[in-house]
Parts: sequence; structure tokens; C-alpha cells
Amino acid sequence: MGFPRYQLLYWCIQSGVRETVHYSETLLLRRFGSLTWTSIHPGNNSYLGIRVFRRPNAHMSDEQGARNGSLANGSAVPLVTPLCVIGSGPAGHTAAIYAARAQLRPIMFEGMLANGIAAGGQLTTTTDVENYPGFPEGISGFELMDRFRKQSQVHGTKILTETVESVDLQSRPFRIYSSQHVVLAASVIIATGAVAKRMDFPGAGSGEGGFWQRGISACAVCDGAAPIFRGKPIAVVGGGDTALEEALFLTRYASRVYVIHRRDTLRASKIMQKRAFENQKIEFLWNSIVVAAHGDTLLRRITLQSTKDDQKHELEVGGLFFAIGHVPATAFLKGQLLLDDQGYIITKPGTTQTSVDGVFAAGDVQDKRYRQAVTAAGSGCMAAMDAEHWLQEHEEEVLALERIPESRQCQTESV
Ligand SMILES: Cc1cc2nc3c(=O)[nH]c(=O)nc-3n(C[C@H](O)[C@H](O)[C@H](O)COP(=O)(O)OP(=O)(O)OC[C@H]3O[C@@H](n4cnc5c(N)ncnc54)[C@H](O)[C@@H]3O)c2cc1C
Repeated sequence: MGFPRYQLLYWCIQSGVRETVHYSETLLLRRFGSLTWTSIHPGNNSYLGIRVFRRPNAHMSDEQGARNGSLANGSAVPLVTPLCVIGSGPAGHTAAIYAARAQLRPIMFEGMLANGIAAGGQLTTTTDVENYPGFPEGISGFELMDRFRKQSQVHGTKILTETVESVDLQSRPFRIYSSQHVVLAASVIIATGAVAKRMDFPGAGSGEGGFWQRGISACAVCDGAAPIFRGKPIAVVGGGDTALEEALFLTRYASRVYVIHRRDTLRASKIMQKRAFENQKIEFLWNSIVVAAHGDTLLRRITLQSTKDDQKHELEVGGLFFAIGHVPATAFLKGQLLLDDQGYIITKPGTTQTSVDGVFAAGDVQDKRYRQAVTAAGSGCMAAMDAEHWLQEHEEEVLALERIPESRQCQTESV
């Protein structure tokens, strides 16, 4: 679902848009000086949604800003809350909904194009979501996340449209810093997600002449069953377990699955290799990289280049899936928490507890296996419940917060 470009144009004129800027895949519209930004997500000949961001505290004087925890004038008075949620995908919002209903007065940092992804998370970069329960007709990723956001606010979550730049999890209360605010929190839920790595070659993007989401994807489980891939040859790029899992999954729908790998041996586990080699539908194209994608309204062909002799040839495909890994959004944690060798937050099995008491993690930032909206939402619920129990058992942390002057306490917001 989306709305066509002419409607966007009409909306821009009506809304007094002054300037448009492309940032990553998102079209940003600036209107009324620098006060309001709007993000537009491009889809197939249409735009998927409009989100208006008011620059935090743009309407306030410096003095007002400071009273509300703003760093704008350099003299920050922190905002205080029992629970701070960092990240605004399905995990962050589910955590916020549960926490707000439990009267924890959560403050959420939803990010301002953190890692190039709009507030709302990875689902804002896709078209229809058909596997989120409760929407038998499917729902646009953008609309789904807009509903999550509204529900968070309805129950009283205060949302800051800012990216967290650093945290101090060694002191109590914890300190969370963006460029504009500092938040003091008794507990923290980190739900900053992960970004699927994408390749960069002509035709790989989502702008003019690009086939991203028009045949190119980075999630077979999410997109593999779409009609545009059924009965067509499909290519998967990668050589690890994920690539082979995606290839095996895609054999259900594709006429043939090519696994394109830059080397002549795989990194994947022996058992996955055995399964893939035994599958009649899978063919390996060794020592090859994709250098271009071609088509009309949809992807039709790709150009492959040999890593041995640079020879090029074209391959007809109806789909191309990148399975070259994900990058968890944990750079801002800078050694504050235990991460694994790929940067994912390590949690105690069966819980969302991290290596720091009172800090919890949910969603893709701690999950490299399932990576689905519904599993992220599920772990967001777990994190809120874990945090609530932890706060009950550590009343002294909350009491210490309550001694901070009233003016600094987080006031809940509603819509
Ligand atoms: C193209 C695509 C299609 C998909 N389709 C489906 C589908 O059909 N069904 C399905 O179930 N799953 C789908 N997925 C997977 C699904 O989107 C993810 O599993 C899910 O969004 C993970 O949720 P999350 O809350 O963990 O994190 P994310 O959705 O990644 O959200 C994290 C948010 O935190 C923000 N953030 C990051 N760092 C900071 C910071 N320092 N400060 C503040 N904010 C920060 C990010 O900007 C982002 O908005 C798809 C993914 C992609 C990429």
C-alpha cells in the first residue's frame, strides 16, 4: 500500500515544503525553516508513508529547553525515568507499551535516521508485511510501525526523536546521551536492531533504475513467498549458514536457486553444506560476484563477474537475495556491555538480561537467528517484564530517582 507521487506533490504544496533532501533511502522534506522534517519512504512508483518530525524543543526558548533536559544551550538538566528504551522498532515499541501500562513512565529515544533507518525500524523500509499476526490482508511496514508508535504514546511513552550517541552504564542511575538530551534512568532496554548488509552496484539501490524491493531483497523468510518470485530462478549471494538457509527456503517457491559465492569454498557448517549440495534445485556459482542488476519495472537479469579472470556474463533471475550478514546497532555502547564477536548484545539465555544488572536487550540487536518483527516484539515484551521485576526488586534505585527534583521527572505524554 502506498500513495502515488502526484498525491505526494499535492501534499508537499499544501504543506509548504521548501526543500527536499535524499538521505540514504529516505526522502526528507524540509518545511517552515528548519522546524519540521518529514521522511518519505519510496516504494514501487508510490510512497509508503509520511512521518513528520518536529525538531525537539524547536518551539522552546533555551531556558525552557534546559528545564526539559535539553543540551541545546550546553547546560543540561537531565530527564529522569525508571525506564529508558533505546530504539523504536517492534521490540522497542512493544517494550514501551508494556512499560507504560506498568506505570514505568518510559522515555524512548526513537532515533533520527540512526544507521540510515527511519524511526520505526527496518519495517519502514519494506512494502507489505504479510506475516505479522492480526493483519490477514497484510499491512504496509510503515503503517504497522505508525500504529506501534501511536500505541506507545496512547499509554504514556515520552518519545524523543533523537539518536543516542553514548551511554554510561557504569554509574547509577544510568546515563543516556543524545546530542540534545541526557536521561537518567534506573533501568534501560536496548532495542536498536540490526541492519542487513547490502551490496552496492548499479541497479542495487531503491532510487531511479534500482531494483531494491522490486526483485532485490535481504530477507528470504520475509519476501520469498511473494508472487514476483514464484516459479522464477532466484539468486542468493553469500557463503555462510544464512545464505544456505535462505537458498534452501527459497527452493519452495523458485524454479531454480543459484548460490553466488566469491570463493570456491563455503563458510557454512558442514550439515548446511550437505543439505544444500543434496538439493536438486540449488546450483553453486563459484568465484563470482554480482556487478549489475537489470530489468524494467522488476528485476530480470544480473551481471556476474568472475573473481578469477574478471570475465562477465549475464544470468536471468526473477529475484536476488543478499545473505551477507547483518550489522547490529551497538557502536554507541563502546565497551559498556558484553557483546559477541559480531557486536550482538549477549543476554542470559531465556531472559533479556545483559551483562549489566538492570540493562536489558530485545529484538534483532541480540538475535541473529530469528530476526522477525513478531519475535522482536515478543522479546520487547519480555524485556519490559524483566525490567519491571528488576525494578520491584531494586526499589532503592527508584527511590533514589524520586529524590531528584520534580521538575526533572519525566511527564508522560498522550495523544
Ligand atoms: C526489507 C526488510 C523486510 C522485512 N520484512 C519483514 C516481514 O515481512 N516480516 C517480519 O516479521 N520481519 C521482516 N523484516 C525483519 C524485521 O523488520 C526485523 O526483524 C524487526 O524490525 C526487528 O525489530 P527491532 O525492534 O529489533 O529493530 P529495528 O526494526 O531494526 O529497529 C531499531 C530502531 O532503533 C533505531 N536505533 C538504532 N540505533 C539507535 C540509537 N543509537 N539511538 C536511537 N535509536 C536507534 C533504528 O534507527 C531503528 O529505527 C524485514 C526486514 C527488512 C530489512
